[in-house]
Amino acid sequence: MLPGTVAAIPARGGGNWDRSAGVIVVGAGLAGYCAALAAAERGASVLLLEKQPDIGGTSLISGGAIAFAGTKEQQTQLINDSPEQLFSDLSRVGGDAADQILLATYAELQHETYRWLQNYGLRFISVQQGSGQSVPRSNRVDTVQMMKALATAAAQNGRISVLTACAAQSLVRTVPDDRVTGLVARHQGKTLTLHAHLGVILASGGFSRSESLLRKYAPTLTKAQRAGSNGSTGDGLVMALAIGAKTKDMNGINSTFGRHPDADPAQNALLHPIYKGAIAVNRDGRRFTDESQSYKVLGEACLKQPEALAFQIFDQSIMDLSVTEAATSDFRGALQTGLVLQAKDLPALAQHINCDEQTLCATIDEYNSDVSSGVDSRHGRSSLANGNGQLRAIAVPPYYAYPCTSAILATYCGLAVDAQARVIDNGGKPISGLFAAGEITGGFHGNGYMTGTSLGKAAIFGRVAGRAAAQFRATTALQESA
Ligand SMILES: Cc1cc2nc3c(=O)[nH]c(=O)nc-3n(C[C@H](O)[C@H](O)[C@H](O)COP(=O)(O)OP(=O)(O)OC[C@H]3O[C@@H](n4cnc5c(N)ncnc54)[C@H](O)[C@@H]3O)c2cc1C
Repeated sequence: MLPGTVAAIPARGGGNWDRSAGVIVVGAGLAGYCAALAAAERGASVLLLEKQPDIGGTSLISGGAIAFAGTKEQQTQLINDSPEQLFSDLSRVGGDAADQILLATYAELQHETYRWLQNYGLRFISVQQGSGQSVPRSNRVDTVQMMKALATAAAQNGRISVLTACAAQSLVRTVPDDRVTGLVARHQGKTLTLHAHLGVILASGGFSRSESLLRKYAPTLTKAQRAGSNGSTGDGLVMALAIGAKTKDMNGINSTFGRHPDADPAQNALLHPIYKGAIAVNRDGRRFTDESQSYKVLGEACLKQPEALAFQIFDQSIMDLSVTEAATSDFRGALQTGLVLQAKDLPALAQHINCDEQTLCATIDEYNSDVSSGVDSRHGRSSLANGNGQLRAIAVPPYYAYPCTSAILATYCGLAVDAQARVIDNGGKPISGLFAAGEITGGFHGNGYMTGTSLGKAAIFGRVAGRAAAQFRATTALQESA
């Protein structure tokens, strides 16, 4: 059966199910694990399904930056931040298209979610400045450590069963109340009917690996690399659409600048020396935009260049700003793995990247002279990133080039949900028994994107969904006894 096909409906409460749990969670990434743990904390038995042989999804291969405000790691670096400032940044970045109630819920619950994750063993390593943030608030985790900690917590919980290599295919609803009471899944060549007596939570991620959905919702991004995990094929979205779910922000998909064109799909090869002072040139050796802009805006500009290719060019003074704590600023690590190229002078660098020597040298001369006069005469760049940091000349040998293109890391759109993570139908009402969290949801990012909010919304709303689904029992019991 294809994802989204509506299954035959077993008799209500009948014994035709292969397996039963209080809450079924679809997808074992960050949102799925947070949902499972939160539901189990409220006493529900949980069945967590993962269609891949291994857990982790895109969460596992991500950069691990999570947008939380007021963290201990920020305080250590004397960074003043607050839920109010976070909310104000989210509103500014997302604009009118972002659902203010979801943003307010994020701001309200983010700090307790940060502490909750720590209680489950997550270690926060460092804080970096990210796109759309008025202060540095990309709190970084090691994603392997994150997923291991959550999987260990789930295994120790006693109420959570995890079934890998099990793909949910369609939702089951009862009549006449249209409540979602389970789903049909495929496991080891067999079709299973799975009963969720409290609710189903869709946490199956985005669709950056579905060519058919990308053709429909992001037809202009054909040249962008697809960088989500293999399971990001939009199954949950299709399943919910089949029962009348509403979507939001479907035109909000954007590519991200800075991914190495030859990176392994499972590799997080995203590097941003531009935000420390590098410039971006195209294959002809010419700059094409103001490099301080959001990496989403740069992503779009890069796709318009010949071969959708760019090179971030920098010098030793910028290489010296490399840090290992933030993957996108680990220039030395990328040099060691051969992703960054080095040359003793600019003509040699031009040869190395096969671009016109004279044009590249002229581009750098012009940029350096603009930096000393204080005005970027070509593209109006006035800061390193987001209005922060002073421009630097590129003048200290050796020189470096990082070839890069744009990639769809995540799809920033999907199911309409309310602040309790209930999936909303086309008539504007919650679909009874159906919840969603993480990349599968829309409405949150709106017109823009703040670094760290994809993982942030997966954790925060995963937890919200788990609690809401576990509590659905009370509402259901009341309704049923009325
Ligand atoms: C290279 C890269 C770097 C990134 N860096 C960051 C970052 O630093 N900060 C940030 O905020 N965001 C980042 N993102 C985006 C972020 O990682 C994702 O949006 C987020 O991890 C999504 O979490 P999730 O739990 O919703 O989905 P996922 O982690 O993708 O989990 C969904 C799971 O559901 C499974 N699944 C799918 N269909 C089914 C089905 N039918 N049945 C059962 N299981 C199913 C999938 O296999 C997957 O394991 C990055 C993305 C990429 C690709």
